[in-house]
Amino acid sequence: MTEKHDIATVYIAETDCGEPLEFVESVQPPFTREEKWVLIVSTLFGCPVGCPFCDAGNYFRGKISKDDMLAQIDYLITKRFPNRVVPIPKFKIQFARMGEPAFNSSVLEVLEELPLLYDAPGLMPCISTIAPGGCDGFFAKLSQIKKSLYRQKFQLQFSIHTTDNALRDRMMPIEKWSFEEIAEYVEAYFEDGDRKITLNFALAEGNIVEPETLLRYFNSAKFLIKITPINPTYRALKNDIVSQIVPEKSDYKLLDELKNAGYEVIFSFGELAENHIGSNCGQFITNYLMGKEQMGDSYTFELQDI
Ligand code: SF4
Repeated sequence: MTEKHDIATVYIAETDCGEPLEFVESVQPPFTREEKWVLIVSTLFGCPVGCPFCDAGNYFRGKISKDDMLAQIDYLITKRFPNRVVPIPKFKIQFARMGEPAFNSSVLEVLEELPLLYDAPGLMPCISTIAPGGCDGFFAKLSQIKKSLYRQKFQLQFSIHTTDNALRDRMMPIEKWSFEEIAEYVEAYFEDGDRKITLNFALAEGNIVEPETLLRYFNSAKFLIKITPINPTYRALKNDIVSQIVPEKSDYKLLDELKNAGYEVIFSFGELAENHIGSNCGQFITNYLMGKEQMGDSYTFELQDI
């Protein structure tokens, strides 16, 4: 476990199959934990996508079972709410830690079971995906589950990172849905009152974001834009991928261009301390356990036994 109590705690667990996995609980200031609580769970052991800025992309050793996904969630919930009643108005469970969730159909079973296991009126699941090719069945079922169990209480995020197709392939080096395919899916998925679909850009130096290209495919009434930094992962450093945005600055021309195009824009630098604790994307503990050298200015919190 590595933690900074007021922001986030990263847990590592060893599963019956011997593989370690990570999961996180965090708060998002200025909200208190009583107002908003975020759990971030892993869906795969590593990830076969291999994004060059993500430490989970360094290896892949299979899917995490439904029971092991539920165990991550149940551990965090029962630690604070032993009766499994969660009275927090904004209670997010993000399938976004380690692994592309669309590669694990058990994620869908977990989504179906959550409302049966917990009394949590504020529950809002969040799927963050790169929209891999060949997963149409997963996304069709996801749409059904959202419509039947989580109407207006579900967050769907597509990580696209750049509007340039060649650069997009570099950032996410597998077959993916085109922008047309994402837009077509959302057309059928989206219902009145749903939360807008997030288009996430982890913005690397040199990656192009053209508002005109976005407008061609993504209706600003249904999509919002989230800009995040490239986190200081081992692989980002190794692959010379540098963040285009830095915490010292917030007045980026791109933000104005996107807003002028009509998009709601979230500029999410997160909490700087999170980079150190490893609760953003990037697998500190996995690297730590593999005995790799720690970086001086990144994830340097001590592991604690629990
Ligand atoms: S960023 Fe997501 S999709 Fe890419 S390698 Fe990491 S976990 Fe997989």
